[in-house]
Amino acid sequence: MRKIILLFTSVVIFNSYAQQRPKLVVGIVVDQMKMEYLYRFSDDFSGKGFRRLMDAGYVFHNTQYNYMPTYTGPGHASIYTGTTPAIHGIVGNTWFDRSLEKSRYCTDDASVSILGKGEADEGKMSPVNLEATTVTDELRLATNFRGKVIGISIKDRGAILPAGHFANWAFWMSDSGNFISSTFYGKQLPDWVSGFNEKKLYESYLNKDWTLLKPESVYDKSLADDNAYEGLLYGSEKPVFPYDLKSMYVKNGAKVIKTTPFGNSILADFAKEAVINENLGTDNETDFLAISFSSTDYIGHLTGPRSREVQDTYLRLDETIADFLSFLDQKVGKDNYLLFLTSDHAAAENQNFLKDNKYSLLPVAYKQFTNKLREFSKTTFGTDLVLNYSNYNLFLDKKKIKENNLVLDEVKKNFKEFLMTQPQVKRVYTEEEILSANGTDFYLNYIFKGYDPKQNGDLVVLDKPGYSAHEGRGTSHGTAFNYDTHVPLLFYGWNIKKGASFDRKVISQIAPSIAQKIKIDFPNGTEADVLTEILDNE
Ligand SMILES: [Zn+2]
Repeated sequence: MRKIILLFTSVVIFNSYAQQRPKLVVGIVVDQMKMEYLYRFSDDFSGKGFRRLMDAGYVFHNTQYNYMPTYTGPGHASIYTGTTPAIHGIVGNTWFDRSLEKSRYCTDDASVSILGKGEADEGKMSPVNLEATTVTDELRLATNFRGKVIGISIKDRGAILPAGHFANWAFWMSDSGNFISSTFYGKQLPDWVSGFNEKKLYESYLNKDWTLLKPESVYDKSLADDNAYEGLLYGSEKPVFPYDLKSMYVKNGAKVIKTTPFGNSILADFAKEAVINENLGTDNETDFLAISFSSTDYIGHLTGPRSREVQDTYLRLDETIADFLSFLDQKVGKDNYLLFLTSDHAAAENQNFLKDNKYSLLPVAYKQFTNKLREFSKTTFGTDLVLNYSNYNLFLDKKKIKENNLVLDEVKKNFKEFLMTQPQVKRVYTEEEILSANGTDFYLNYIFKGYDPKQNGDLVVLDKPGYSAHEGRGTSHGTAFNYDTHVPLLFYGWNIKKGASFDRKVISQIAPSIAQKIKIDFPNGTEADVLTEILDNE
């Protein structure tokens, strides 16, 4: 009898080892977060938010995007599929579709409709354009669809792409301030989501001023409050604190919250409700909550990486994350969740700021650049052969080229020569050059990994370092350079030991590493190596 019990015990131990998984995986994407923010603002973080993750978790200091364009849609898709736009197909936020002869948005889906209150188009969204599986998809398959997957964000693409094809739900915020979804996921919004919306929580955030969180002396890590490189928030006369959110809300509606740190706060409030009401992390089937904080990106675009607005946003996000971690400790249990935090892209310095400080950039009128190409085409070929110029891709009108008895290769050659005369342009590649990239040219490889011949253009432009497609105030991102590619990567929690790596890692390593860690299939398109640093220490 005694022997049998012992045998039984050892079988149970063996089985529990084979099935060992956390109760919950939490993926956090902070939209437009530069790795440098974790260093620059670190002294003023609380110790319970970002620093808790860094001090007790595993920090990859040198994580890079390895393709261009570095935008939100491709970024979220690459984090969760473990591959790059060349394979997963999300080649931009919006890109020109030759068959439609117009631009399409990355999560557009005309076949579905909105759930909840918002404009009809805000809900015509699904992951239908995503061509690879996500780590969240593989979790659904591995658990026979018992493990739940929920994606949430202010941005539709920040919620939908991480949650994948088999998600239980993705929720995002309409401009009316309501969390919405689409009929791709279900027939009606869950009651707890409708209940959350009915409370109009955004009003409690927008009835206050946005003031500095900390004493003014803390903000010496940023430029002066009033400077020429920051855009103006909703009709403000100057880019300075305090911001009167109430009058902005009265004039512009609830969408104002998106471009304040409180867009992150309300998303965390919503995330807690998701954990409670969907019972995430409560049973033995691993669930996955994918959160993407978008307000950092809206504020970053408006005011740039050297603004006090951005610094204050990160100091406040630190408190939001601290609060969310202690919530997870209580609800799911300290050692029961595995968490990672990264970003979908970083951001450039403001070009005028660089120029005013003697870096010799010639600010480019990006908005007018397509017109410049059209003018060139008319004077050279007697007709406009430009279908579209976007995401550094030039699409030529092949039908017109034929009709005008022109030779495509000659046309490309002419456009290439013209583009090379532009002050910001470093190199121009043809489709043939990109597809024959053999890994020897670092930046050509960035283009190759972002290039899907079925969806990209005839020529792709690499601008010089320092440039980014924004004008005047604020900033943007999208390039293959460090300012856009260097992002944080932190792992924390279940079976993660404290540590740090300074080796170069690439963004597509995250998804297969999570898959390996929780012993499920890799996302189907991934070609990246796993991060052994977070696997060895178990
Ligand atoms: Zn952005």
